[in-house]
Amino acid sequence: MGERLYPEYAAIIVNRAVKAVDKIFHYAIPAHLQPIISIGMIVKIPFGRETLEGIVVDFVDQPEVPLEKVKEILACVSDQPLFNQELITLSHWMSARYLCPWVTAMQAMLPAGLQLTGKLPQSSLRYRLYGTDLLKEVKGSKRGLVRDYLAVHDGALLADVLGATGVKENIIQTLIKLGAVKKVGETVWHHTVSPDQFQNQRELTPLQQKAMDAILSSWEADGKPVLLHGVTGSGKTEIYLRLLQHFVSQGKQGIFLVPEIALTPQMVDYVKSRIGVPIAVLHSGLTGSERREAWQGIAQGIYQVVIGARSAVFAPVPNLGIIIVDEEHEASYKQEQTPRFHGREVARERCRLQQGLLVLGSATPSLDSYDQAQKGDYHLVELTQRVYAQPLPQVEVVDMREELRQGNRSIFSDRLIDGITAALERGQQALLFLNRRGYHTFVSCRTCGQALECPHCSVSLSYHAYDGKVKCHYCGFQGEVPKICPHCGSSAIRQFGAGTQRVAEEVMRRWPEARVARLDRDVTAVRGNHEKIYRQMLDQEIDILVGTQMIVKGLDFPSVSFVGVIAADTSLNVPDIWAGERTFQLLTQVAGRAGRKDGQGHVVVQTYRPDHWIIRCAARQDYHAFYAEEMERREIAGYPPFVALIRIVMSGTDRGVLQTAAEKLKGYLRQYEPMALGLSGSLLGPTAAPLEKIKDRYRMQMILKGADGALLRSWAQQATEQFQKEQPMAKKILLTVDVDPLSMV
Ligand code: ADP
Ligand code: ZN
Ligand code: ZN
Repeated sequence: MGERLYPEYAAIIVNRAVKAVDKIFHYAIPAHLQPIISIGMIVKIPFGRETLEGIVVDFVDQPEVPLEKVKEILACVSDQPLFNQELITLSHWMSARYLCPWVTAMQAMLPAGLQLTGKLPQSSLRYRLYGTDLLKEVKGSKRGLVRDYLAVHDGALLADVLGATGVKENIIQTLIKLGAVKKVGETVWHHTVSPDQFQNQRELTPLQQKAMDAILSSWEADGKPVLLHGVTGSGKTEIYLRLLQHFVSQGKQGIFLVPEIALTPQMVDYVKSRIGVPIAVLHSGLTGSERREAWQGIAQGIYQVVIGARSAVFAPVPNLGIIIVDEEHEASYKQEQTPRFHGREVARERCRLQQGLLVLGSATPSLDSYDQAQKGDYHLVELTQRVYAQPLPQVEVVDMREELRQGNRSIFSDRLIDGITAALERGQQALLFLNRRGYHTFVSCRTCGQALECPHCSVSLSYHAYDGKVKCHYCGFQGEVPKICPHCGSSAIRQFGAGTQRVAEEVMRRWPEARVARLDRDVTAVRGNHEKIYRQMLDQEIDILVGTQMIVKGLDFPSVSFVGVIAADTSLNVPDIWAGERTFQLLTQVAGRAGRKDGQGHVVVQTYRPDHWIIRCAARQDYHAFYAEEMERREIAGYPPFVALIRIVMSGTDRGVLQTAAEKLKGYLRQYEPMALGLSGSLLGPTAAPLEKIKDRYRMQMILKGADGALLRSWAQQATEQFQKEQPMAKKILLTVDVDPLSMV
């Protein structure tokens, strides 16, 4: 038999995320689809009595089932594949690594708005529509729909207007001809360059050049990932840009991951001005159609650099050259929903599959990455000096207990006040950092000491000054502050703690001439706000910026000379094995924002625990001392990176059922416990999760520990699968398995 011209059978994954159908099914490809079908396409298939979507993951010569039983594919949903071969392979790896169905991993890769069920978008989505004054006058039912929609959604994308109103595109064309609607061909997610923006490359400093050479040569030698450990202000960004350019000039694409999408304007500016290639920016602020368009454009190779948060690691670039994970230690790279993947891990696997270079960069690498570098799994490249040998900032630790003893009841110590005043006098900027982890403004009773809790979740409610309400961060519950304590009836109930708002108000009172801005989740929830504040900081239109974690991460404001930390130790109190590591990273990073360009930076760290070793290491910005001590503690306690962990969380509305189910599952875990784990393995729990109740669901957890991660995963998988298969009560609870968790609450 000669070579077949077209494939006749396809291996298909069904778009239904349940264990029972998490396998490959073989379908026949009807003759009329044979010339157009390709791997990665979405197709319609008969499945049982239903019609479902499936993803073509492979072609086969012979189906596994008898020929007369093979069903036929009904249609192709799209004319283009949605996934390339690399992403299919990567998703398969993810399903095994994070113990989720294959299709769940594929769904997670797709940007929202590009579902497996959906058709691919039409053309001409690039336009935003703006109403003019004439639009208010238009009559007619169809035109009226557009008028009313744009009244609320001015600047919406054409595709969204069409989708929301259901009118045909010719109606829009007529409105454009009438001058009632303007069509503006611009979207926010991609950037091209005009020649006047293009600047010449900067000279690398000798240290940067050495690091750059080391990265490329070590990678060329054996393809291992590179950990770039460079102190704050050592010029890592410049190296990232050179690396991107290196690969772009070879016709390859680069993916640049940021921990917080708010950091993209800075990077977009740099890439635009230095590399001068089309860039795509993927972030959650995009509309569905923008995301679809971005995905397609990237797949066609139009964009040479893709910038985005965690899920940009899946950008379907056709010819991957490099993935850079900036601030690789950030916990935001871990997805806290199924599939609970870690962006850094996925990037590593993707680079392995596609022979790309993985660069992990940080001034405070995660313990895990630094450990891998010590073991030789990563190359370590260190930058120990700031650009132009700027000194690291000088950090002063202020004991807030002492301040109180001296009669200072304010949230600012005298040293902090002096520092801000001095910076302002020199015409420089100041940052005030409020550590929100484990800390927020809560309402509590001075008589009985109880904090006001959410009625649905076991967390204390946050007090919001702007509307005087208390709110739950988990379920969104909100209510009034009660006049009397619900526990003891005392009327001595009031809010405690300082939010960014309160700190900003206090700052404005003390320095009435200063221009003050605030940067936190509430502010950045409004599209465009973050970028505005970022630019105002750069243009020195802001003197004092008060903010949370967001001001910490990697921002480069050359005129900031003073950094104040309001309460350094709050994040030490989080009941988590990572509390120390996170606090060290946070403090070192925030300190590193000071004095990056000229003069000596000055940092004041306010704390109630000035002698805590983490605070001390951070004040010295001594990563190596921190690493050595923390590794010792982890080894003694039997925590990662010395062991692997799996966290199993069960939740349910009935506490009794949940408890019984948890005990049952424990039985299965005992039964399947691998002998090979031996002494290194253990099973902890079930216990109530630290957050015992969320949205009226009770939560319990179990922790599996062991030296061998792969063995641990197969143990968890076998036991949970058997439990779910054999125990009807498993249906009454929700089970999530978190491989390599980064949080225990
Ligand atoms: P990091 O990311 O390591 O904290 P940055 O990349 O933000 O540091 O660099 C710190 C500062 O030094 C920035 O203001 C940057 O513009 C400047 N810089 C970096 N490299 C050079 C260079 N080769 N020449 C001149 N300035 C540089
Ligand atoms: Zn009370
Ligand atoms: Zn709640």
